[in-house]
Amino acid sequence: MTYRGRFAPSPTGHLHFGSLVAAVGSWLCARHAGGEWLLRVEDIDPPREMPGSAESILAALPAFGLAADAPVLFQSTRQPAYDAAFEQLKAADRVFPCWCSRNDLAGGLHLDGRCLAAPQPDRQPAWRLRVPDVDVRFDDGLQGPQLQNLRTAAGDFVIRRVEGYYAYQLACVVDDAFQGITEVVRGYDLLDSTPRQIFLQRCLGLPTPAYLHLPLALDDGGRKLSKSEQAHPVDPTDPMPALRRAFAFLDLPAAPAATRPADLLAHALGHFDPARLPHCSERMAA
Ligand code: GLU
Repeated sequence: MTYRGRFAPSPTGHLHFGSLVAAVGSWLCARHAGGEWLLRVEDIDPPREMPGSAESILAALPAFGLAADAPVLFQSTRQPAYDAAFEQLKAADRVFPCWCSRNDLAGGLHLDGRCLAAPQPDRQPAWRLRVPDVDVRFDDGLQGPQLQNLRTAAGDFVIRRVEGYYAYQLACVVDDAFQGITEVVRGYDLLDSTPRQIFLQRCLGLPTPAYLHLPLALDDGGRKLSKSEQAHPVDPTDPMPALRRAFAFLDLPAAPAATRPADLLAHALGHFDPARLPHCSERMAA
């Protein structure tokens, strides 16, 4: 089977250091395996999006030497596929409508496959997946064996929000399968979403790709860069400094003589071994 990797940014800002690390890591894994590297813009959450962000991210990547092997997939065009997955779950009685408010649930209420509030015909419900008491295991390419009890960790999680938007978990699983992704390489902040995604794949009869979670970048204050991403955009008009920092972060060879992103990437590829990427959950961005 051809290796297929992907980079799947949400258009919530400009390309920032944390996403550059995920882009470089996933690109190197794909090229190292002789496979393809695909792009997907996860534009399914309009309230969180920043106008112009998708264009800005997509224009920045080639400046860093990262070109995709197929046209970009925009999740905003994939509504019919998410509707079909949702209907499939509904037909299998795996989802239920839920009118519980955040306050209801913050009080420690545990859903058990059904909503605890009275149905409110004049209000749209959220739709939740019925999650059994199941241990999901997977072997992360970098972080090693993982085990999560889905009921304790996630409970009956939302797959379609009150506003009618599909949740990231559902869209991600449907599109990883649609794009034929064989390995998902992304940041450590998504490690705990992976068991939910594996469970959804099982519910929908979709294949489970391999997973590899890269360490998360912290700023000098020890905060996640992703939380303050607007403060850390990378400059596509002068790509080498940020690319060199991403290389240092991933313990890739520095190639001091390289003057262009393509040379730096080619040099890294010649020496690349995914097993030698840093095995920690987080580290300081240089
Ligand atoms: N869109 C997500 C993000 O930008 C990444 C999703 C993924 O890689 O699965 O954080």
